[in-house]
Amino acid sequence: MAINLMNPYDVAVTQFDEAAERLGLSQAMRAILRKPKRELIVHFPVRMDNGDVEMFTGYRVQHNINRGPAKGGIRFSPEVSLDEVRALAMWMTWKCAVVGIPFGGAKGGVICDPHKMSSSELERLTRRYATEISILMGPDSDIPAPDMNTNPQIMAWIMDTYSMHKGYSVPAVITGKPIGIGGSEGRMEATARGVMVVTREAMLDKNMRPEECAVVIQGFGNVGSITARLLYDELHCKVVGLSDISGGVYNPRGIDVYRALRHSKEHGSLQGLPEAEPVSNAELLELPCDVLIPAALENQLTGKNAARVKPRLIVEAANGPTDPEADKVFNDAGITVVPDILANAGGVTVSYFEWVQDLQRFFWAENEINDRLETIMKRSYRAVAEKSSEQECSLRMGAYLLAVARVAEATELRGVYP
Ligand code: NAD
Repeated sequence: MAINLMNPYDVAVTQFDEAAERLGLSQAMRAILRKPKRELIVHFPVRMDNGDVEMFTGYRVQHNINRGPAKGGIRFSPEVSLDEVRALAMWMTWKCAVVGIPFGGAKGGVICDPHKMSSSELERLTRRYATEISILMGPDSDIPAPDMNTNPQIMAWIMDTYSMHKGYSVPAVITGKPIGIGGSEGRMEATARGVMVVTREAMLDKNMRPEECAVVIQGFGNVGSITARLLYDELHCKVVGLSDISGGVYNPRGIDVYRALRHSKEHGSLQGLPEAEPVSNAELLELPCDVLIPAALENQLTGKNAARVKPRLIVEAANGPTDPEADKVFNDAGITVVPDILANAGGVTVSYFEWVQDLQRFFWAENEINDRLETIMKRSYRAVAEKSSEQECSLRMGAYLLAVARVAEATELRGVYP
């Protein structure tokens, strides 16, 4: 089926259209919400360590800012495309709405391979990209954050670049910064902590006992590795499969997650982890398990492999890991999917806390942050579960119905200018 080739933006629009139809939105409202509000494409030179100058292309897309300033991460990857950034920006709009935080959706990216660049090349690329997008970026207008292959150091360079142009420090221009320059306690693990809370709630609804559940996680970066640790430590799940870009590892008796963390740190990948058998990323997704957590990238669960993917619960820590065809297969098979816009919203929620703390110059303790995060994630999960049972639809549709209605309401209230 051609749907396997759908680009992420088509997936995002298909999901939106279904929700718009169910909500009975007017054609005008559908037309407004389907399109990103702003799309900036930048081509810029960076001097490499050998003295050569190379051109790079970057994007910043704002999907909808009717509920508040634009918010969304920046991704560095050779595969970044405008359509991917558009999709991610749209998902950010719904994500902020589903957890009820006052932001609109945005996303950014630069086509580059950070693993092949030195730290000083990466710094020059980051600072130039930040300068190029500074016509959109600002603490009241557009507040970026980390995403794939970007980290607190890169956020620090962006904060510094913006601040240099202003002549004073503007910590609230970006989130996911190191704590020493206005970052928030708890931000590093916020996305994973949110994933843990919704996983626990969904297990409860499905009468699954966490300590009896075998869990497989794809991706061992910020989100995947910390999710593995929290599920292992706090929910006492048995983590049977893990993977990163180099492939996966499997042990049906359970993997010692701390050992995997140490191994990955020492060797740069999970490959060769003792007492685990190597599997490919494709095989990993089809391993027998109770809970599957994709935490790497889009389009991992598609019409091609969905029939062979058989957990009881899928929790989308990554953005857009399931295409609409796979979604239908899971729905028909009674497999519960906790959708990305809810499951990974812990990151943007603590980014919101970070922004509020920066604006107020008043910082909260880690337990306060984790407690507030827990409250918001649990409340949002419950609201989505209630909506989906009331409307007899999937959790994804329940989340979309709540989120799209909130954004449509804000858009309606503000009216069409002029
Ligand atoms: P990261 O760069 O820290 O980690 C990505 C991981 O995925 C790495 O382990 C990498 O090796 C692995 N990976 C990359 N390509 C792969 C492939 N083809 N097959 C298997 N594994 C592969 O990124 P992250 O911040 O952990 O983000 C992961 C996902 O979570 C992304 O979809 C991102 O948009 C989403 N997300 C991240 C945050 C956040 O706060 N970092 C918040 C919300 C959503």
